[in-house]
Amino acid sequence: MIPIVAIVGRPNVGKSTLFNRLVGRRKAIVDDMPGVTRDRNYETVTRYEVPFILIDTGGFEPASEDRLLQQMREQSQLAIDEADVILFLMDGRAGLTPSDVEVVEMLRRVDKPVFFVVNKVDGEKLENEAAEFYTLGVENIQTISAEHNRGVGDLMDEVVAALPQKKGAAVAEDVTKIAVVGRPNVGKSSLVNRLLGFERVVANPTPGTTRDSVDTLFTCNKKRYLLIDTAGIRRKGKTTQKLEKYSVVDSLRSIERADVVLVVINAEEGVTEQDERIAGYAYEAGRACIFVVNKWDTLAKDNSTLGKFVDQIRTEFKYLPFAPIVFVSAKTGQRINKVMDEVETVMAQYSKRVSTADLNRAFSDAVEKHHAPLFQGRRVKFYYATQVGTKPPSFVIFTNRPEGIHFSYERYLMNKLREAFDFTGSPLRLVFRGRE
Ligand code: GDP
Ligand code: GDP
Repeated sequence: MIPIVAIVGRPNVGKSTLFNRLVGRRKAIVDDMPGVTRDRNYETVTRYEVPFILIDTGGFEPASEDRLLQQMREQSQLAIDEADVILFLMDGRAGLTPSDVEVVEMLRRVDKPVFFVVNKVDGEKLENEAAEFYTLGVENIQTISAEHNRGVGDLMDEVVAALPQKKGAAVAEDVTKIAVVGRPNVGKSSLVNRLLGFERVVANPTPGTTRDSVDTLFTCNKKRYLLIDTAGIRRKGKTTQKLEKYSVVDSLRSIERADVVLVVINAEEGVTEQDERIAGYAYEAGRACIFVVNKWDTLAKDNSTLGKFVDQIRTEFKYLPFAPIVFVSAKTGQRINKVMDEVETVMAQYSKRVSTADLNRAFSDAVEKHHAPLFQGRRVKFYYATQVGTKPPSFVIFTNRPEGIHFSYERYLMNKLREAFDFTGSPLRLVFRGRE
């Protein structure tokens, strides 16, 4: 299971600056892709020895001191419950504040690694000003400057060393791992129960007490599947607002471990912003996605209802035009079988390998039909393509101008490969490498 690092702290202490620094910049697939990176406050960080999910727990600036304290408590509780390592960030320029003191009290009793970090210590001279933070009486206060990248490397050495090196039980290669994600009450546990073919396997555990994930193996059409974190899916009993946040974290964890992600959407509500975030994350993580529109039984339908829903999904999830959509009712069982049919189809594509000869034929056809736009007045040439991996199918393409390939051309090539090899439901990865 991939560990989680959470950044907690008052508004303006520099959480998002630190977040961006640690995440580094990703390839910008996003400029013309609404929804993917908007409002992003969690990201997989892979540049350190141990990969982890980084979460910025920050919210909006609260109107009053009371609200601030409440928000800080909620943030901290989320981090305490969900994170493996907590970074509590304070502001060396603003100095110690009452809410810092309160949160430190809360965090010092926590039985997991907590780093107390004073940010905005931009230079040696400012170190003295951080002295007041030592009155907090916690061991090991670290001073950094997120903006100027001072002390961040040292901090991260310690953070990474504190991450649990969890070794999940090995899962056989031929098992397809399925994550069921979505907002609270969309019907995830009802769907899981349907997929497993029985009702209420696990009694609802006491709220918040089950952190252990329980995966469930099952067989369908003679193939083996693993449903990820069925305990998390069934975990209930928090207030709605908190549930929302927890369900995002649960979703991220599950997505990291999955092959296929079932993005469950409530037909009564339509697509929500959280659905977009979760699907965006799954897409960027290279997972196969299937949209499951649940509670289809609740709608009064006419012959345009389904079409309208499809349109909405295609508009809101522009980056996933290939993901299948299934309309189901976990309550009545309507079309539930279709879900596993789609999983099977998508998995076949997701793990497919094509021969180098076929690949290069399809690839040069695509390039002939529609040349890449000139880059700095010069032609972009392609030499050779090869498949380097599956899950998702990944291709390296050698070209004279890797930096000159526009996103829209990349998308064109992907679509052509999708058509040529029936990768219709699977994400693909293209990497362009330079060669003169
Ligand atoms: P957040 O609300 O906690 O996410 O804080 P931000 O990351 O948005 O930072 C708030 C302000 O502090 C911004 O103006 C940043 O440029 C500034 N800031 C962040 N880190 C540093 C730092 O290391 N040194 C200084 N001098 N300013 C910083
Ligand atoms: P979860 O929080 O996403 O796991 O959602 P649940 O499976 O607990 O379902 C939330 C509520 O929606 C429960 O009251 C379910 O009985 C109800 N529900 C789930 N699926 C359906 C469905 O397909 N149709 C209808 N009408 N209700 C459903």
